[in-house]
Amino acid sequence: MDAPVPQPRAADLLAWYDRHRRVLPWRALPGERADPYRVWVSEIMLQQTTIAAVKPYFERFMARFPTVEALASAPSEKVMQAWAGLGYYSRARNLHACAKAVASEHGGRFPDREDGLRTLPGIGAYTAGAVAAIAFDRPAVAVDGNVERVITRLFAIEDEMPGAKPLIRERVLALLSHDRPGDFAQALMDLGATICTPRSPACGLCPWREPCRARIAGTQESFPRKAARKTGKTRYGAAFVAMREDGAVLVRTRPAKGLLGGMVEVPGGEWRADYALGDALRDAPVSARWRRLMLPVRHVFTHFPLELTVFAGRVPLETQAPDGMRFTPFNRLKEEAFPNVFLKALEAGLEELQQP
Ligand code: SF4
Repeated sequence: MDAPVPQPRAADLLAWYDRHRRVLPWRALPGERADPYRVWVSEIMLQQTTIAAVKPYFERFMARFPTVEALASAPSEKVMQAWAGLGYYSRARNLHACAKAVASEHGGRFPDREDGLRTLPGIGAYTAGAVAAIAFDRPAVAVDGNVERVITRLFAIEDEMPGAKPLIRERVLALLSHDRPGDFAQALMDLGATICTPRSPACGLCPWREPCRARIAGTQESFPRKAARKTGKTRYGAAFVAMREDGAVLVRTRPAKGLLGGMVEVPGGEWRADYALGDALRDAPVSARWRRLMLPVRHVFTHFPLELTVFAGRVPLETQAPDGMRFTPFNRLKEEAFPNVFLKALEAGLEELQQP
């Protein structure tokens, strides 16, 4: 008969965390109190993005907006600009709205419980749990992708994602430490990020190797179970980089709502799966001798991949910007909140214009 599998214990995870915790710019050192503002900004930035990518953005963001009041009173273009490159721009808009709500309705202090936090813009179940646990040491549950992986492996949860989420929450709630809930939440995230990795988890170093059912069965990498992924069809479109004789480039701000809302783009037409590239010049914002770049700019959004064909052209000094567009002087382009996809199109177009 097989030996019974022991139950995982929070104490084993915390002992591991005390030795191996990561030092992160937003994380309090042992014995220090966490700053709710820094914890909240980091959690919003870290959604869908890696720690390595977030660190420089976080440092710059804190230098510009050191307090929730500073963020609340900043103009929205400055906030979008500080966010440009991180993607998921609706988060930046919600971040700003949330800072305003904290400053004006809560006297500059974040609510210290999940239910209070959830009343704020852009704070969903995950962020409320993470901020309540990490910043206020509340016994709250914050389940991100790392935690999902650890827990589904630990208990060999066969349900497919996302259907398994309630069960994962339940397991975390039953496991968490009521003495050190903030450290427990961070320890679980660290374990998922550094030991229980998607490929080749380092089970030999794991504080839960004894009770881990997936390790015992040798099936670690098959968790979490996932249904086959449906990705959207590739969409196609055009992007026009029009440079005036004085170096200014034609740009426009996208509508506030929708994909990349409020961000800045070089003009182009609609993106469609059946976009007819032969007719692309109909979408040109101004007339010019357009040069079509051989290599398209590719980008993958959450729901569809995009392929943008870039056209570059020089226009005379007297060219008027069409309605809703503007010429931005060359040396101020870096202040515009271009998301990555348009930054790539702009750079490709400018490079083409350097050619004779
Ligand atoms: S034993 Fe391995 S699979 Fe199980 S939780 Fe630890 S690292 Fe993950």
